[in-house]
Amino acid sequence: MTGKADTRLRRLPEQGSKDFNLACAIIDDARICHVGFVLDGQPYVVPMAHARDGDELLLHGSVASRLAKNLAAGLPCCVTITHLDGLVLARSAFHSSMNYRSVMVFGSAAPVTDPDKKVRGLDVLTEHLLPGRLAELRASTRKELNATTLLSLPIERFSVKTRKGPPDDPKNETQVPIWAGVIPLSLRAGKPEAAPDMPAGIARPRYLKSM
Ligand SMILES: Cc1cc2nc3c(=O)[nH]c(=O)nc-3n(C[C@H](O)[C@H](O)[C@H](O)COP(=O)(O)OP(=O)(O)OC[C@H]3O[C@@H](n4cnc5c(N)ncnc54)[C@H](O)[C@@H]3O)c2cc1C
Repeated sequence: MTGKADTRLRRLPEQGSKDFNLACAIIDDARICHVGFVLDGQPYVVPMAHARDGDELLLHGSVASRLAKNLAAGLPCCVTITHLDGLVLARSAFHSSMNYRSVMVFGSAAPVTDPDKKVRGLDVLTEHLLPGRLAELRASTRKELNATTLLSLPIERFSVKTRKGPPDDPKNETQVPIWAGVIPLSLRAGKPEAAPDMPAGIARPRYLKSM
């Protein structure tokens, strides 16, 4: 099965880009993506963890999941990643907007079946979610690996769209006496909350201090 995604931006094409490095930076800066696909005429959009390994987008899931089974069988999908960087408050609702970085990757994912590549890919996912953590985790068991599907989607057909900067009101509205500007938004880690059943005396790891 192949998808025929059209990646030409028609609305606000000046906010678009085909820059592979920019797409990678947006992907790397995110810890979740949304995976869209159509099954029996019904669209689904599923939030998932992801990581990038070179020019491949990695996804994983339970072998039992409908999503993993269908994507592994080649069902075309669209993976979207969005960062909301700010609310753009213009002098009218119409010209108000958002600052953002988004990327959409289209294609068909392939299951990673080679055992070494699978372990490595799952390690890339773990390390992407929390850099430094992999070193202290035990290796996954054979049973855990068998229960997990790893999917690889080439970052070949993709589109990028970004907006940054102040509101873009028409000149004849800039003197209206209301507040206009940008409210920056970002995702920040909170204070770590230790598991209640953790033995006493375990120091907070260095990788948590760096967050
Ligand atoms: C946080 C956020 C909030 C948004 N809110 C709105 C909203 O409320 N209303 C609204 O109309 N639009 C909104 N957008 C923009 C929206 O994502 C679309 O770009 C826009 O609606 C144009 O859609 P279209 O189908 O006409 O695009 P077209 O230009 O026809 O899209 C053609 C192709 O361009 C690419 N493309 C389109 N949009 C994006 C994107 N965002 N990122 C990467 N590639 C893209 C895809 O490959 C797509 O197949 C928002 C975007 C973001 C990131």
